[in-house]
Amino acid sequence: TEEALRQSQKMEAVGQLTGGIAHDFNNLLTGITGSLELMQTRMSQGRLTDLDRYMAAAQGASKRAAALTHRLLAFSRRQTLDPKPTDVNALIHGMEELIRRTVGPSVHIEVVGSAGLWSALVDSSQLENALLNLCINARDAMPDGGRITVETANRWLDDRIARERDMSVGQYLSLCVTDTGTGMTPDVIAKAFEPFFTTKPIGQGTGLGLSMIYGFVRQSGGQVRIYSEVGQGTTVCLYLPRHHGDAPGSERMPDLAGAPRA
Ligand code: ADP
Repeated sequence: TEEALRQSQKMEAVGQLTGGIAHDFNNLLTGITGSLELMQTRMSQGRLTDLDRYMAAAQGASKRAAALTHRLLAFSRRQTLDPKPTDVNALIHGMEELIRRTVGPSVHIEVVGSAGLWSALVDSSQLENALLNLCINARDAMPDGGRITVETANRWLDDRIARERDMSVGQYLSLCVTDTGTGMTPDVIAKAFEPFFTTKPIGQGTGLGLSMIYGFVRQSGGQVRIYSEVGQGTTVCLYLPRHHGDAPGSERMPDLAGAPRA
């Protein structure tokens, strides 16, 4: 779990780095657009002097922009997944102390691990990062303290629910993190998975937490859902694919109920 903390700090740093890269990239684009506009104006006026200077400026900026995107791509490639059968209840248990220390004493943590939980097929260190990030988001939504509930369940998605959630029919585990915080407006929910979208002050939010979680869970064959109401709180659920290789006898009743309470 110390490893998870270091990972999360690294992610924070990487977030700031990528945020910086996006900013630099935008500046370069502005420079390129400006140079092109100047060239166009000059050409339309028949003044062809200086054109090569503007051209060189645009080319230089384009090359630097390409170098920046290569850096970003190199980073994203390093995030290869290593899915393995994972006991999600045990993973949460192993993270509990770290989560408590991270969110501080004003936030009460409750863990409700379902008995007979299937094992999930996921990259466990990515899942640890995701869980910690969800709890940090929950804490940030509760500046005056509150309660975080981490809950797991077996879920059997039938046709209708699967279609509704853009998932394949089948068996999943849900890992839901609920807080009693500010909640999110429909507007914020709609944008929450976008990289760099944040409502937090500069230096506090990178806007990468949920987008990275979304990327990881979708790549794992799962889905992420946000249920939130302003003034009530937020539930973020990760639906993780079940690992089929469990010992028989761990079957539970199919869960057709769909969304947890929000
Ligand atoms: P960051 O936390 O750096 O802002 P995220 O991608 O994790 O980036 O979250 C994006 C935005 O979604 C946050 O800025 C916040 O507005 C909203 N959000 C995420 N989780 C919660 C939550 N538990 N309660 C309220 N708002 C949330």
